[in-house]
Amino acid sequence: MVGRGDRSGDRNTIRLLAELKKASVIGPQEARIHLDCMSNAKQECSIIDRSCVMEGLITVVNVSFMCQLDGQRSCAGCCDNFQQDREVLRRKYSRRRAAFDAMVRGRGDLPLYREHMARQELADVSCRFLAFLDDNQQSVGCLLHPKGPTNKGVDLRRYGKHGEPRCQAYICAGLRTVRKGGLYEWLLLHYLQKASNDWYAYSRLFSPSVTYKYYGGLFEIYIKLGKYL
Ligand code: SF4
Ligand code: SF4
Repeated sequence: MVGRGDRSGDRNTIRLLAELKKASVIGPQEARIHLDCMSNAKQECSIIDRSCVMEGLITVVNVSFMCQLDGQRSCAGCCDNFQQDREVLRRKYSRRRAAFDAMVRGRGDLPLYREHMARQELADVSCRFLAFLDDNQQSVGCLLHPKGPTNKGVDLRRYGKHGEPRCQAYICAGLRTVRKGGLYEWLLLHYLQKASNDWYAYSRLFSPSVTYKYYGGLFEIYIKLGKYL
């Protein structure tokens, strides 16, 4: 027998799915996984004793480490279009990494590599320095970043598409929301991160390219859709 609570839960899920579809490029399976994360976060938020959680503290955390959270979860959402299929992006990042390894011995080779890739990828407008960072193709990121595998702390992003100041200053809307957010935002992020355990799924959480009308990515949408739960 279906109880009244079950029926209103179903209605909420249908409404959430419809809103999500209107706002983003998302498949049914990914949407359902993310909606489960939303309801887990909401449920946990309602049972945690907030007086035990020092919410003031989390507002000062440096959230930029979330771009490269761990060996599985890395994000390139602000440097490319994540409406493209996983396999298309995998091949592109792999091709770039191989060309970079073959061509670049020092910073003097960076413009040559960039021009070579521009000729190879005529229809692609993304920065050529976005690629796999590791040989096992588990992490994506910027080959020019000071934390890059061979950069020894030197920031080389002036050779990229947007120049060093823009890349250094950029922080996406999702991370800005987390930084200012409270318990619900942090719990939601926790569940979404657990469910997004590779570079493609993780990048899609934050990338503005997968949403139609929001400045932010999917994470921003979930914060806004929280009112339907
Ligand atoms: S989209 Fe956000 S989380 Fe992803 S790399 Fe850019 S700033 Fe970091
Ligand atoms: S140089 Fe800038 S735009 Fe290019 S991959 Fe690095 S962070 Fe992204």
